[in-house]
Amino acid sequence: MKNLDSDIQYLSGVGPKRAALIKAELGISTIGELLRIYPFRYIDRSRFYRIAEIAGEEAYVQIRARVVSRTMYGPGGTVIPPGDKKLQYAVKRLSVIVEDGSAQTELVFFKGIKYNYARLAPGSVFVFFGKPSLWNGKLSMVHPEIDAPLPEGSDLQGGLTGVYPSTEKLLAGGVTGKVMCKLQSAALALCLPEVEENLPEYILSENALCGARYALKNIHFPADQYALQKATRRLKFEELFLLQLSLLKQKYIRSHGNPGLVMPKVGSAFGALYESLPFSLTGAQKRVIREIFEDMRSGHQMNRLLQGDVGSGKTMVAVLSALLAVDNGYQACIMAPTEVLSRQHYANIQKYLSPTGVKCAILTGSSTARERRGIHAGLEDGSIGIIVGTHALLEEGVVFRRLGLAIIDEQHRFGVDQRARLWGKGPLLENTPSEGGSPHGRVPLQHRAAPHVLVMTATPIPRTLAMTLYGDLDVSVIDELPPGRKPVKTTLISDSKKVQVYNFMRKQIALGRQVFVVYPLIFESEKMDLNNLELGYEEIVKYFPLPDYKVAIVHGQQTNEVKNFNMEAFASGRADILVSTTVIEVGVDVPNASVMVIESAQRFGLSQLHQLRGRVGRGAEESYCILVHDFKTSKEARERLELMCRSNDGFEIAEEDMKMRGPGDLEGTAQSGLPISLNIASLARDGVILSEARAYAQKVLDADPGLESAQNSLLLKELRKSKYDIKDYSKIS
Ligand code: ADP
Ligand code: MG
Repeated sequence: MKNLDSDIQYLSGVGPKRAALIKAELGISTIGELLRIYPFRYIDRSRFYRIAEIAGEEAYVQIRARVVSRTMYGPGGTVIPPGDKKLQYAVKRLSVIVEDGSAQTELVFFKGIKYNYARLAPGSVFVFFGKPSLWNGKLSMVHPEIDAPLPEGSDLQGGLTGVYPSTEKLLAGGVTGKVMCKLQSAALALCLPEVEENLPEYILSENALCGARYALKNIHFPADQYALQKATRRLKFEELFLLQLSLLKQKYIRSHGNPGLVMPKVGSAFGALYESLPFSLTGAQKRVIREIFEDMRSGHQMNRLLQGDVGSGKTMVAVLSALLAVDNGYQACIMAPTEVLSRQHYANIQKYLSPTGVKCAILTGSSTARERRGIHAGLEDGSIGIIVGTHALLEEGVVFRRLGLAIIDEQHRFGVDQRARLWGKGPLLENTPSEGGSPHGRVPLQHRAAPHVLVMTATPIPRTLAMTLYGDLDVSVIDELPPGRKPVKTTLISDSKKVQVYNFMRKQIALGRQVFVVYPLIFESEKMDLNNLELGYEEIVKYFPLPDYKVAIVHGQQTNEVKNFNMEAFASGRADILVSTTVIEVGVDVPNASVMVIESAQRFGLSQLHQLRGRVGRGAEESYCILVHDFKTSKEARERLELMCRSNDGFEIAEEDMKMRGPGDLEGTAQSGLPISLNIASLARDGVILSEARAYAQKVLDADPGLESAQNSLLLKELRKSKYDIKDYSKIS
């Protein structure tokens, strides 16, 4: 008996050899998993559209139309006459206007221009098949397929046909698109009756969703456009709803299921720092500290995300929060993703702490055995109030006397598991059976109180992404910069004009300023990236020779010692220029640096450029960001970069970035952080369904937080699947 869990080799048309190929290429092994590989687009050859009825959103349409006119265009939209032999090389685009009696539309060709010009003579009729798009309200089709028209009234072949993801190896092994369709069809024939509904009836009807079997059948073999839409909506909703349900449920369990350490007091250390601040906090900083304090005194465990643009003053908020913990008799730790950042935090925090008398230490991978011993002792006896460091803080040997608050800077580099490990360092609950009186040892988590957790990120994240990446957290936003900040003046320049950039750098250095020069990771291999960086370094050293100029270089291949030494040379002002890869992306604070030069800027995402730019403009001086693009950079890429010159708003830039780079890129880069990988929904395109799904998930949980009612039993069953990985940390030992 074959079922959804059977190996795909038992499908007709798949032997052991093909099965092995499909497994290797698509990463699936059962029939059920095969059925979850959906077409990523559809070809609709089932009918002819009238041009007037095309909305511009259809996946593919087929029209029968007559050529009205055709024109060749050169650079900047100049018309190039067909007879002009001299100018033919300059032709960039062929535009063909066609009509079908209902309306006109434009067909656009960037390739095969000569051939298509000759073929598409005015007056001739063809069948065009392609993806319509809408630009400024004007309909067009780029590179449609062109066929001679079928005789009037003849039958059309085929309906909506799915196009499945494929690979070269699959094709070479004979698993073509057609074969894939056959396999899906065989799989459905065998197993469709077995597919069970996984959403309760009331949810289907309240959200007007079709059933699971209908959806699965029609996502593979749509009866028509309408059925395809219904199937797509159901599957997207299901995916996003279950994900949000699992996130919101985790959030609920954390805040209600576990006792939170109660920290009701605003004490002397907090007061001492607050009184001694040389500036007053911004309104946003004050609001956020209030939100954090409300959590910390509430009796619920805090899990809060703090978003704020670079320079918005998150570190200050972190330190004040840490002092709240200290004043209530607890310890706090502040984790940063790199050694360099940890050191910088440590230096700043120590400065802030001097009026408070609270002892602070730093622990990183490069702390010596001797330093470690001292720190371990200080954490265990409670004499160290605040510890700053890298992942080294998560090591087994690090034991706190009473860890009350864990602050994680730049969350995107830390995973959920690491948050869980912090939990294991929380204080023992009162009635815990003691193990020789030692606060460490392998005490099950249910005997530990989770420390409050505050994660901070300077990466403004589009709303849909935040809802998914941080769906289990409460969110605070610092949406106000300290007064007096001047926006960074940003310009875009071609690398053929590099000398101008160097001259500008000279002038700034003569004024006593410092300059960052950043190189992207361009090549697959680290070795080649390094070469690229070193070539750049050599060129800069040539333009900025000793003894007048000092240039430091920092990259990921250096030992920590060398890296820290060079970083320090720049931070202390001994070096005028810092040449580096993106290791300086986050956090590093050198107020005297007024110029950020970014090489091959077209290779960065906008959000990342915004991050980098945030490294300057921290002092009182006017500051500059110079985006250098390769002279070959396309017009689209340059337009993308121009947004950086216009806007200083991290959220606006992040939204644009997600739209422009498309879901593929964005989710590709964010994937590592997504709680589960999305199979059909897209964070860039399905924001509306996502919001609906999240709101609805919240409604379901409000009515039944434990999903214990009979009507929700299906949901509970779904969430137990390993992919949702609902960790009720209080039950893990
Ligand atoms: P972030 O971590 O959010 O990028 P920081 O906490 O490093 O920002 O703050 C950037 C700079 O602004 C620091 O030099 C800090 O001392 C200063 N700063 C923070 N809050 C204020 C404020 N309210 N007014 C003036 N300056 C501030
Ligand atoms: Mg910071």
